[in-house]
Amino acid sequence: VLYEAYPEVIRGRNAGGKVPLGLKKKSLRIVVTGGAGFVGSHLVDRLIARGDSVIVVDNFFTGRKENLMQHFGNPRFELIRHDVVEPILLEVDQIYHLACPASPVHYKFNPIEFLESLILIIGAMGWIHKTNVVGTLNMLGLAKRVGARFLLTSTSEVYGDPLQHPQVETYWGNVNPIGVRSCYDEGKRTAETLTMDYHRSLGIEVRIARIFNTYGPRMCIDDGRVVSNFVAQALRKEPMTVYGDGKQTRSFQYVSDLVEGLIRLMEGDHVGPFNLGNPGEFTMLELAEVVQEAIDPNAKIEFRPNTEDDPHKRKPDISKAKQLLGWEPTISLRKGLPLMVNDFRQRIFGNPKTLVV
Ligand code: NAD
Ligand code: UDP
Ligand code: UDP
Repeated sequence: VLYEAYPEVIRGRNAGGKVPLGLKKKSLRIVVTGGAGFVGSHLVDRLIARGDSVIVVDNFFTGRKENLMQHFGNPRFELIRHDVVEPILLEVDQIYHLACPASPVHYKFNPIEFLESLILIIGAMGWIHKTNVVGTLNMLGLAKRVGARFLLTSTSEVYGDPLQHPQVETYWGNVNPIGVRSCYDEGKRTAETLTMDYHRSLGIEVRIARIFNTYGPRMCIDDGRVVSNFVAQALRKEPMTVYGDGKQTRSFQYVSDLVEGLIRLMEGDHVGPFNLGNPGEFTMLELAEVVQEAIDPNAKIEFRPNTEDDPHKRKPDISKAKQLLGWEPTISLRKGLPLMVNDFRQRIFGNPKTLVV
């Protein structure tokens, strides 16, 4: 039952035309796996704010309780420490499946910088693959048992080092199956396969988002992603480390735009996959300039060897999301970056109690 009676009937208003007159949309029970992470915690904020009940399932591998502290004590919020690689029984209407260590330090390594942590990282890689495959299978099993709608947060990495530019959802990608990034790329590709198999063979309602590089407040500070690295380095007066010649491109999306896209996708009628990203394309050298503008015009740049299999360029074609979800990003890099810089400044130099954004 998606609707319940209003206590008092509101005449002449029906919440955007979709809800029958006199009824209000039922508040949903939603599980967000990986909800203590960067994207997940912003999503939880939105779901709680609109009146839903949210259960976060997270093993805190890269997530932090601080990201969710604003909801502690709210009876519509629950936090469960759990690894999605293990089965779990919950009663929910929707599943946003985000659990996966997305930060590159955890799945790829620069042979020079990270040699000493090689053994640890190789261990983590198998585990990342397991999270993507077994974790996704468990969440699909849960969706099947309770009849919930399931949304997978896949990634632009499924396109690998793309031979088509910009990337359209119909492009099958160019992924090295035995490369250093493959635990992530292939893990997500398998997660997409499982999702479509459960949809086709069992009729599970599914949604697939292919997320392009996203930044914003609450990103892990030292997770190795380029935006967080450059911002933290410039704030600490360290040189920004540009890998390779810095001419490779990425398209950077502000986190609130992504959250809006994820919710529209979940609530809409289309399975996807949908690219969710900002088509504004920047070389890493251009990104360094934007960081200089936002933080310190004198911030220095230092070149380092690049990591293996680094995609040369990446930019989403978002025509499909525009047309079918009525979605497109609204926050440019120059507008969004200062919002992230404020958060990083506070977390690096300020009182840790003021972390919540
Ligand atoms: P994040 O690392 O901040 O969040 C991931 C969360 O999942 C963390 O809280 C972590 O503790 C949790 N987690 C990891 N493994 C788990 C497990 N086995 N069981 C339970 N919890 C587990 O990363 P994010 O940037 O917020 O990414 C969220 C999702 O979006 C991921 O699935 C990621 O692949 C996808 N994505 C993100 C980006 C990006 O640029 N941020 C780009 C493409 C795709
Ligand atoms: N699963 C889960 N929670 C549930 C239902 C299933 O974690 O509420 C797990 C279950 O343990 C299994 C996976 O999801 O490992 C796939 O479940 P499914 O029922 O599709 O497959 P089966 O158990 O029949 O192999
Ligand atoms: N990169 C960089 N300096 C850094 C970290 C990353 O120049 O300190 C480069 C990296 O080689 C890649 C791009 O920035 O070309 C984006 O890297 P990130 O790991 O953030 O995202 P992904 O490669 O997963 O898109």
